[in-house]
Amino acid sequence: MSIARFWRETPRRYNLGGSRCRTCQTVYFPPRAVCPTCTQHRQSLGRMEPFQLSGDGEVVTYTVVHDAAEGFEMQTPYALAIVRTVEGPQLTGQVVDIDANDVRIGLKVRATFRKLREEGAAGVIHYGYKFAPAERITHPSAPEARDRSPAESPSTGKGGARA
Ligand SMILES: [Zn+2]
Repeated sequence: MSIARFWRETPRRYNLGGSRCRTCQTVYFPPRAVCPTCTQHRQSLGRMEPFQLSGDGEVVTYTVVHDAAEGFEMQTPYALAIVRTVEGPQLTGQVVDIDANDVRIGLKVRATFRKLREEGAAGVIHYGYKFAPAERITHPSAPEARDRSPAESPSTGKGGARA
């Protein structure tokens, strides 16, 4: 599914709708009414326009959470990351669809909308964005990773343990 179609099919309130300053082109999320980057804030008055973030970005830093808050117990351990979007704004969110231990700095991710938590049996379900890997995850111990590695070079005759 294309990103554009994904966003069209996502209820508006879940969108990563930010704003962009038409004077300096800086993108903000959440949206701002004035631009703090412009040297004189009033330059940006009336020059902020809605801007839809693509949801693409990469992990800047992350932490693996083992002790979750009430309502999140079923999800531990999980990785909580700061993601720098391709448009600039940095977002914080959980990284899903990946083993928490496989998350790394520089990992390409894409925002995806998921259930965040549920309050009680008949309670309110909260949705929000999380991040899923946007690149193939290679795990050193996974067979497919080994298969994709370059063939081991022939013995160079140096210190072989398989004499
Ligand atoms: Zn500006």
